Amino acid sequence: MNEQRHSLSSKIARLRDQFIEQMPGRMEEALHHLAMLRVDPNQRATAANLHRFLHSIKGTGNSFGFEELGSIAASGEHLVARLLEMPLNVSAPFWDELAEVLARIVLNTETLRQQGASSSQEHDVPRFEMAPIDDSEGDGGRRIYICDDDPLQVEQLATQLQCFGYHPVTFTDPAELRTAMMSKRPSLVIMDIFFPNNVSGTDVLAAIEREKDQPVPAIFISARDDFEARLNAVKAGGEAYFHKPVNALDMVTTIDELTVQKKPEPYRVLIVDDEPVIAAYHSLILQEAHMVTFQVHKPERVLEVLHLFRPDLVLMDMYMPGCNGRDLAKLVRQVPDYFGLPIVFLSSETDKRKQFSAMRVGAEGFLTKPIHPEDLVAAVAIRAERMRALRMLMARDSLTGLFNHSTTTQMLENAIANAGRQNESLCFAMIDVDRFKAVNDTHGHPVGDQVLLALARVLQQRLRNSDIVGRYGGEEFAVILQGIKLGAAAQIIDQLREDFAKIRFNAGEVEFSCSFSGGVAAFPQCKDMKFLREAADSALYKAKEEGRNRVVANNE
Ligand code: GH3
Ligand code: MG
Ligand code: MG
Repeated sequence: MNEQRHSLSSKIARLRDQFIEQMPGRMEEALHHLAMLRVDPNQRATAANLHRFLHSIKGTGNSFGFEELGSIAASGEHLVARLLEMPLNVSAPFWDELAEVLARIVLNTETLRQQGASSSQEHDVPRFEMAPIDDSEGDGGRRIYICDDDPLQVEQLATQLQCFGYHPVTFTDPAELRTAMMSKRPSLVIMDIFFPNNVSGTDVLAAIEREKDQPVPAIFISARDDFEARLNAVKAGGEAYFHKPVNALDMVTTIDELTVQKKPEPYRVLIVDDEPVIAAYHSLILQEAHMVTFQVHKPERVLEVLHLFRPDLVLMDMYMPGCNGRDLAKLVRQVPDYFGLPIVFLSSETDKRKQFSAMRVGAEGFLTKPIHPEDLVAAVAIRAERMRALRMLMARDSLTGLFNHSTTTQMLENAIANAGRQNESLCFAMIDVDRFKAVNDTHGHPVGDQVLLALARVLQQRLRNSDIVGRYGGEEFAVILQGIKLGAAAQIIDQLREDFAKIRFNAGEVEFSCSFSGGVAAFPQCKDMKFLREAADSALYKAKEEGRNRVVANNE
């Protein structure tokens, strides 16, 4: 952390140096603008330029801790605002005053440069600590040890977990489990409580845990359901307790909760600011908080970058050449894709009326420069998080958490376009549960939901990261397999079919299993989305016709 801290402060110091070094050139331009305005005070564009320059120096100066520079620039900004309002009312003293302000800026920045801006300001580097993100690899940790003295039970459970994509290793003897735990650590242990000869599963596990520095999550399973058995399990560090017979889907849900550590996707923030050093400064702060940033210095590039970068939030300056933040925000809002995109202004504008007017275009917030880094990070994170949650709700199916129909369609369209550009193949599979109506009719709707949930998990866990799984309709699912040919894709779906058919569901005392039929078609053999969907659909129809519980590839 200290090293990071150091590198952040040296990066910020470099930005400050850069800012100070650029000042003479920029001041030359400002003085030129002043000379032009003295000749003709009515040149609005020139006055607006000078105003924006002084406003920017105020904001950047304050952000970098050059307070004196910030306050001189603020007085200049004030003067030029008067000029913009009533160009004909200014008199000779006004020009002298403005010239004096510019001269003070020149002097101040020269002093800062001589002092070596960064070294003298070192103590001003903002100090803030972000909660470190857990970097431990979500290794997909699928190795699970199961220990139960009943060989049949242990194999049964292992088979079920395998269907959901886990790699179970089974033991009937606690001593073997112990040896295995010492040589290779699983991501979870499932442990029976009662073994022959009065050996207790909880004692065994507790003893192993004492010898290991990193505990492994444990789930206990037992035929007993009494308080004492449960208490022993808790005392031995058990994270969950299952009464036999174990429902595989419930078990998988618990295992997922205990083992799958999804690294949160970092927030993506687009920073629009015509002042590169201040954009870079805010960018550094957000990067330090593990966000991904992109800087835009020219407002006219914003649409192009939005399309490519797909941010969760836009941080926008107010005064920029050619276009102010208010208009730019409105322009972005008028593009349907970005209607809900949070836009937060970050400006040294302190006039409440102007802030309010800017907010009325639908911005999410108005932050004022200079902003404390922690406040910036918090303001951005809260809004980006909300955006994520909303997107998630809109894109996902509430029962299974898979992509919903419209998102899946959109993704299929993108995937096809992408495959076309890269000259790659792609397959689309439609999957439909067999005789599902009968499941509902026999066992009730909630049990039917369990079947859908199990299928969703099988699809999600067994497929590669690049594959996309969606719930297409009631008991219909869609899978997009990228960079793969028809034969291989059909084989993968067929393997999933076999696994799914092995899962046993419980409805009260009754056990039953389900199957699905699948139809697969390939791009570029099917030249666009319409053909691809029709081909997969007719293959699915054929699979049903031929007797269900099978996968048909459409070769036509
Ligand atoms: P086939 O093998 O030909 O596909 O027969 P099927 O019974 O699976 O097909 P059908 O289309 O006749 O019935 C589908 C059933 O799925 C009807 C509907 O009530 C049920 N269903 C749709 N969505 C859900 C859901 O979210 N939960 C539950 N439990 N059932 C659902
Ligand atoms: Mg069906
Ligand atoms: Mg159906």
